[in-house]
Amino acid sequence: MSCKFNFSAGPAILPKKVLLKVQTELLNWQNSGMSVMEMSHRGKEYAPIIENAELNLRKLLNLPNNYKVLFLQGGAVTQNFMVPMNLLNSKTASYVISGYWSKRTFNDAQPFSGINIAASSESINYTKAPEVKTWDYKKTDSYIHYCLNETIHGVEYFDDPNIKNIPIVCDMSSTILSRPIDVSSYGVIYAGAQKNIGPAGLTILIVRDDLLDFADKKTPSTFNWKTQSENNSMINTPSSFGIYVAGLVFDWIIDSGGLQAMEKINIKKSNYLYDFIDSTDFYINNVDNQNRSRMNVSFTIHNDELLADFLSGAEKNGLFGLKGHRLIGGLRASIYNAMPYEGVVALVDYMKEFKDNH
Ligand SMILES: *Cc1c(COP(=O)(O)O)cnc(C)c1O
Repeated sequence: MSCKFNFSAGPAILPKKVLLKVQTELLNWQNSGMSVMEMSHRGKEYAPIIENAELNLRKLLNLPNNYKVLFLQGGAVTQNFMVPMNLLNSKTASYVISGYWSKRTFNDAQPFSGINIAASSESINYTKAPEVKTWDYKKTDSYIHYCLNETIHGVEYFDDPNIKNIPIVCDMSSTILSRPIDVSSYGVIYAGAQKNIGPAGLTILIVRDDLLDFADKKTPSTFNWKTQSENNSMINTPSSFGIYVAGLVFDWIIDSGGLQAMEKINIKKSNYLYDFIDSTDFYINNVDNQNRSRMNVSFTIHNDELLADFLSGAEKNGLFGLKGHRLIGGLRASIYNAMPYEGVVALVDYMKEFKDNH
């Protein structure tokens, strides 16, 4: 059976329309006689591609003028090091730990001194994200880091933090563009593209321009946000094809009604799946109602021994990528923007059938 619906956490499903457009343009982009992959990133053909991608991203997020957009490489994890390099400025920083990714971010920052924990939900197995009002940070911190959506544990924050005076740095890799956010609540937002934006190899970073002046002198130019910003993300060759595909995804979101429309359908999709899980004792999700991720639904079956059967049966039904992360096992359905409602319905139909047969 071929793949009907891809529930992988990342690299992940892309809108079919976007893939078809890439296919049509692959060999000859708008009569340029070239593929986008073959173009000089500094050429006249490529310039509108990156410019429009940035403009449309600004439009979607309603970005204020004092925010810069950078198209970087190295994935979200590279920012674990770049954030302190660019922002710590020999001071302290506080990290909120709400799941695997934010813990990894904290661990990766350990070579720097002054890295503290503001709050952690590790002792409750990340079933609830530490509430903003419990975050213990210092007034003199150079920033507070947290992760808006924990892709492995399926734990998401839904309110923008209302903290003034200390820049908030946020890993939005797996939830960016799934709903409107108030960008002015954040100093820095970053996201690996391969969840909700486009192909792997591109990292988007949005930074308030007054935060560009604090990089450690030893920061290499490719890692220095200010240098990258001054060079329009082209201090070296950017992920040119990735930026092109991301631009098509932004067009697709705008044509689909923007982030309000994304939020509406994402609520509908995730509610449908959680409501079904909650209606049985067969499937289990232990995440607090307030933090249940709309993008990554982590769940398991009451009896572990059924997991392998569940997964092989799912693939026979064209439902792929449902295996939970190797660290926590179980199952996970990633239902990003590009996953149609019908995909979630097909998954729930299969889950019902599997339950009835076991
Ligand atoms: C996928 C993911 C990452 C890792 O991204 P890479 O691009 O592989 O470095 C980091 N944080 C979150 C929240 C993620 O979902």
